[in-house]
Amino acid sequence: MSSDSNMTMLELGRDHGDIRDGVRKVCEDYPAEYWRGQDEISEYPHAFVDAMTEAGYLGALIPEEYGGAGLPIRAGSVILEEIHAAGCSAAACHAQMYIMGTLLRHGNEEQKRKYLPGIASGDLRLQAFGVSEPTSGTDTTSLKTRAVRQGDHYVINGQKIWTSRAKQSDLMLLLARTTPADEVAKRTDGLSTIIVDLREAKGNGLEIQSIPTMINHNTNSVFMDDLKVPVENLIGEEGKGFRYILDGMNAERVLVASESIGDGRWFTEKAVAYASDREVFGAPIGANQGIQFPIARNYASIKAAELMVRQAAALFDAGQPCGAEANMAKMLASEAAWAAADDCMQTFGGFAFAKEYDIERKWREARLYRTAPISTNLILAFLGQHVLGMPRSY
Ligand SMILES: Cc1cc2nc3c(=O)[nH]c(=O)nc-3n(C[C@H](O)[C@H](O)[C@H](O)COP(=O)(O)OP(=O)(O)OC[C@H]3O[C@@H](n4cnc5c(N)ncnc54)[C@H](O)[C@@H]3O)c2cc1C
Repeated sequence: MSSDSNMTMLELGRDHGDIRDGVRKVCEDYPAEYWRGQDEISEYPHAFVDAMTEAGYLGALIPEEYGGAGLPIRAGSVILEEIHAAGCSAAACHAQMYIMGTLLRHGNEEQKRKYLPGIASGDLRLQAFGVSEPTSGTDTTSLKTRAVRQGDHYVINGQKIWTSRAKQSDLMLLLARTTPADEVAKRTDGLSTIIVDLREAKGNGLEIQSIPTMINHNTNSVFMDDLKVPVENLIGEEGKGFRYILDGMNAERVLVASESIGDGRWFTEKAVAYASDREVFGAPIGANQGIQFPIARNYASIKAAELMVRQAAALFDAGQPCGAEANMAKMLASEAAWAAADDCMQTFGGFAFAKEYDIERKWREARLYRTAPISTNLILAFLGQHVLGMPRSY
């Protein structure tokens, strides 16, 4: 089935209405004051994450046989969109949805039985993803963390950076090199995915250090010094880890794009209300084209990006290749949300800078998705070079 014919399958309008209503209901208990307070003290939003877990939303994508709801990624996408449209943030818990995908698709039955039911119930948190490193940046295959097999253990040495939620996670999915880059045919070979039990590892070869950032994101550096991890924690085959994380990354892009769609809706709603209400020179500022047109344009961009998110999700759920669509969805949605955020700042004038309006906080938060989990440039490079076949820059 081509991606074009999938377009006709997309249900336009407010799909998964029950889920949207349910998520909204949970979000009502976490108003702007809650998020402002957490942001002030850089605190992880435990109560919100617990409430989402209890309501079953974070285990939505885990199959029923492992205790989850067995819903398609489109449902996950709707959950995260709605959280953001309500002014809340899913950044503290979204990874719980997609990291387990690597385990689900490539782990053995014993690993799935060991971890997935706990992740579905919320007893176990797998929401730390150790890929990025300080020196290799986006060039993932040149990462330096080494896992060397010694008997029934891997001995791991290296450093990860930007490992978000590591302090609030029981488990971390680690990407490490098991065969040196100069001994493999392709640089994408020789990398492996390993589950690290952070509860055992902390203080026993693994240290976590917070990185203060401009948003409340609970992100960290993780240092591994002769960390011993049982070989049974290897996911799939040794040396094939890069392949395993790629399909997880498509899920991540679709889900993060959905958060941007939710942000875009939130900024648009705020901007429309303020522009219609605020009177300067005896008339509402929203009557001026300089205020009204950017908001209208952003609305159109958000709607267009939403279509790409839905197409990417439909392809993912149909088991079709969706790399290009997932990347485009993430790029278009994050750019549309950012434009909506910035124009909302402009619409609110000086009041946008007052914390009590929440615009500056959401503006800071929305900016992240143009950079992480993958930057706009790298998506353009992927499209230019892999989809359109132009010369490669890397
Ligand atoms: C708050 C936060 C949370 C994060 N959470 C996680 C996490 O949980 N786990 C994890 O593994 N990582 C995480 N990341 C890391 C994130 O995925 C990276 O920061 C992101 O992919 C960019 O990588 P980099 O910072 O190394 O930038 P670099 O790779 O150093 O790139 C810097 C700039 O150069 C551009 N550039 C590089 N190469 C090219 C090229 N060939 N062509 C054009 N432009 C190029 C990039 O687009 C970018 O704009 C997080 C980052 C942040 C800020």
